Amino acid sequence: MTARYSPAEVEERLMGEWLDRSAFHAEVDDGRPAYSIVIPPPNVTGSLHMGHALNSTIQDVLIRYHHKLGHNTLWLLGTDHAGIATQNKVEAALANEGRSKEDLGREAFEERVWEWRRLYGSTIIHQLKSLGCSCDYERERFTMDREYRRAVAKVFVDLYRKGDIYRDVYLVNWCTRCGSAISDLEVEHFERNDKLYYVRYPVEGEEQEFLTVATTRPETILGDTAVAVNPEDPRYGRLVGRRARVPLTDRWVPIIADEHVDIEFGTGALKITPAHDPDDFEIGVRHGLESISVITPDGRMFEEAGGLAGMDMDEARERSVDMLEDEGLFVRSEDYAHKVGHCYRCGTVIEPLLSLQWFMDMKRLAEPAIACVEDGRVRFVPERWSGVYLDWMRGLKPWCISRQLWWGHRLPVWYCDACEEIVVTEDRPQACPACGGGLRQEEDVLDTWFSSALWPFATLGWPDQTPELAEFYPTSVLSTARDIIYLWVARMIMMGLEFPGDVPFREVIIHPTIMAADGRRMSKSLGTGVDPLELISEYGADATRFGLVYMSSAQDVRFSSERIELGRNFANKFWNASRFVLQGVPEGVSPAVNPATPADRWIFSRLADVTGELARLYESFDLAEAARVIYRFVWNEFCDWYVEIAKARLYGDDEAARQEVAGNLLYVLEHLLGLLHPIMPFITEEIYRNLPQIAATESHPAALFDAPFPATDPSWGDPVAVKAMEVFTMVVTGLRSARDELELPRDVVGQVWLISPDMTTAEAVMQQATSFRQLSGCDCVDVAVSEADLPAGRYVSIEGPEAGVKAMLELGGIVDPEKEKARLLGRAARVRKDLVKAQAKLSKESFVKKAPPEIVNEERRRVATAESVLKDLARQYRERIGEELPE
Ligand SMILES: [Zn+2]
Ligand SMILES: [Zn+2]
Repeated sequence: MTARYSPAEVEERLMGEWLDRSAFHAEVDDGRPAYSIVIPPPNVTGSLHMGHALNSTIQDVLIRYHHKLGHNTLWLLGTDHAGIATQNKVEAALANEGRSKEDLGREAFEERVWEWRRLYGSTIIHQLKSLGCSCDYERERFTMDREYRRAVAKVFVDLYRKGDIYRDVYLVNWCTRCGSAISDLEVEHFERNDKLYYVRYPVEGEEQEFLTVATTRPETILGDTAVAVNPEDPRYGRLVGRRARVPLTDRWVPIIADEHVDIEFGTGALKITPAHDPDDFEIGVRHGLESISVITPDGRMFEEAGGLAGMDMDEARERSVDMLEDEGLFVRSEDYAHKVGHCYRCGTVIEPLLSLQWFMDMKRLAEPAIACVEDGRVRFVPERWSGVYLDWMRGLKPWCISRQLWWGHRLPVWYCDACEEIVVTEDRPQACPACGGGLRQEEDVLDTWFSSALWPFATLGWPDQTPELAEFYPTSVLSTARDIIYLWVARMIMMGLEFPGDVPFREVIIHPTIMAADGRRMSKSLGTGVDPLELISEYGADATRFGLVYMSSAQDVRFSSERIELGRNFANKFWNASRFVLQGVPEGVSPAVNPATPADRWIFSRLADVTGELARLYESFDLAEAARVIYRFVWNEFCDWYVEIAKARLYGDDEAARQEVAGNLLYVLEHLLGLLHPIMPFITEEIYRNLPQIAATESHPAALFDAPFPATDPSWGDPVAVKAMEVFTMVVTGLRSARDELELPRDVVGQVWLISPDMTTAEAVMQQATSFRQLSGCDCVDVAVSEADLPAGRYVSIEGPEAGVKAMLELGGIVDPEKEKARLLGRAARVRKDLVKAQAKLSKESFVKKAPPEIVNEERRRVATAESVLKDLARQYRERIGEELPE
């Protein structure tokens, strides 16, 4: 083993080797139980961000763990064609060449996107490899694969025939820049400072009667088809049923009463523009109102808008206010802050527009998808997300599934211009079945989430009943971010139940969101992102994985590079301890369980506990706790104590003892590697290859990746040894600090009595006399039940883990009482001086009131520290000098 662990070299070599021998590839195999996960397919335009890094680590831990349990594991990966994101990327590249997609035409543009995908689409797949992900890279899928396209078309046609998919005029969220409808879930709402305009509408039959409405959008007045008030509003009751004139026009529209109108808002009267406002659209449907579109898909006023024609919204708003003033109908305006929807892709303000779109009604599919979460066939972890899911599912609205893009799954819909026939079918029809005329395919493509909703089964060969589908569907677990529970998780559940006929996964892990260190959202554009690839190159993949998992215990985690450093230090500590063990083990020794001493019995007993705990934590997805448990055990118990205690025997003269302890060390080390491997696959695999038993025997798999999860034996449990080692470690630690305090030179050997009411424990500690001496610099001369049994003399007491258990270090002969007295008095004087100073500061009212709180707290801390040090000095003085510490 090299003296220093160098992650970059090891990671590249081992990953190359795993891939070369198809270690991660799954075959259909009836013998073993299947365990499968489909990766949330990253966008083909994507590169690895912190969310991917955490989520992929979680999935990799689960896959590696279950592979060790002997399951037939499949981690299926692939990418999403990401309609709008990819189209925007390629359009931007074209713009750099001074061209547009229209210049190329649809077919050439699609070619261009495929070309782009060939060049850049695998970036994120390579990045997953550098994180150590054990995906089945031989089964990489893409949501625009030929087979995948077949699944999408089949689902569309099937749902159309069942009546769930239909075409309708509907108000959609329209991005005038992207030129496409986007779904409700893709609209981002930000607060915006606008104005609220008060406008008078003349009432029919009354010379001087007006109904004043408040609106943020005077430019859409031309599209008004009613004015609405609340039926409970006493101010307007008498006007309901009459008509009002739409300003700037000579149209008369009804004054209607609708409960939706908020009495408190503005004047309590609303202008109703069904074609440009979702609430108005609903009111329009309820009251059978006409819809008049006045805004074009590119975000300008329509041609019939007279003086406003062709203007963009801002211009039209200003101009319409002028025109209202001219007409004498403008009252006033006031500042008004409200939430406005923006396109999640490009940030343009969303324009609600009427258009002919394809919809999917979700009611029929939602019912079974609600039931399967209610009855526990699909379980959310943490559990509270099932409530979030169910709430949303119970209020599902129709889903607008058509998008005005060129990149995506084009709808399998053909129109006949001759006879208006609509043909919906999987395979391109030759001619109109009704009249034999020519057909034209729908230009729109499907919302990307429509195709990703099929991911768990379309990737396994559905609609064919493939052996893969039989083996790996339903998948075991889905791990994903909370912001796509609706967009993706819910839709996968609906489609899974409808098509293959079973839930797509048994458990859904909603992983934490990693925020920037200052608590803001991590984002490239905000400059708050941390690049996981940089962490990997600086600290190594194992350290990055360990740090991410370690910090992921809460739902919102602030990123901390210290956690990644902790992972690196842990890797180095484990490497060094392993190297020490392997260098000290005599040749020809085999790993074995030799519970010869209390320390041996203790380490195996603890190993059994920790193994059980880790299995439980891996099973329950509590990876943050798993990381903590293995970290503490490896660092604090194995490296700091067992290896140190073992040194006495490993380098002693007793050959039999040497063989015994060497066997134990090899055994425990190999066992630990297996426990830690799912989280830190590279370093554990590398150490494993260096174990003498791996090279020497056929019984061990050549790769740790394939080694079973370590097994334990119930006979390892040994409470007596565990208790004895608690005493041992606590007393040795106490003796070390006592020696430091007393400034004892290294060659002075202290004499220690062990006090314990329980002789079994005390004797077990005594059996470790040699390592006790080596680690504490003291001889344990004897044990006693209580202090009263000790020979007369002065002692320093070291407290044990429970009352009545302690070690007494005899001072006679090793400490000069006069010198010790002078030392303790000198220390006490210095501490008292500090204390007085801090107390004086705190007694000044001006200081406590005016100084910054952290400065005041600092002084308070100083007082508390000084007081506790003084108390301890008083104890030492009493023990060592036999008198009370003078004031
Ligand atoms: Zn947009
Ligand atoms: Zn026809």
